[in-house]
Amino acid sequence: MNYSGIKYADMINGIGIRVSLFVSGCNHGCKNCFNVETWNPNYGEEFTQKQEDEIINFFKKYGQTIRGLSLLGGDPTYPQNIIPLVSFLKKFKKELPDRDIWIWSGFTWEEIIKDENRKELIELCDILIDGKFKEELKNLNLKWRGSSNQRVIDIKKSLNSSTPILFVE
Ligand code: SF4
Repeated sequence: MNYSGIKYADMINGIGIRVSLFVSGCNHGCKNCFNVETWNPNYGEEFTQKQEDEIINFFKKYGQTIRGLSLLGGDPTYPQNIIPLVSFLKKFKKELPDRDIWIWSGFTWEEIIKDENRKELIELCDILIDGKFKEELKNLNLKWRGSSNQRVIDIKKSLNSSTPILFVE
């Protein structure tokens, strides 16, 4: 898996001060995508044990100041990203069980839960922002998402429900 960047102390992508990992690879092709270069799964650098350790050590260094981890892209649920992210998140949760994990995907909740591999990945996360960016529904006033079709979903509650439950701050 390749990644295009890691933003330490990010305050935009989720609640609180976070670490945001931007992975490469996306085939949704949204018009006016904010991050076109990350469509290519080979864009950026390889995400290795070194980066995993750097992220975990950053959390340990700053303690509760850093609230959680955010996974963006590209699309973290792009096929070749799933196995490395599942492995990383298992390690992350073992070391830092009290931090929340947010994930963005161009797939909808309904599409993700039908796919065993994607479901395994989001089950390790707390909040999902789902769906493609749709230019015609763009709204700059929305938090954490670019267009009004995208939803901010409480994953744990939704897994126990027949319909996705929206996250309430
Ligand atoms: S899902 Fe995100 S990264 Fe992929 S094309 Fe759409 S806006 Fe761009």
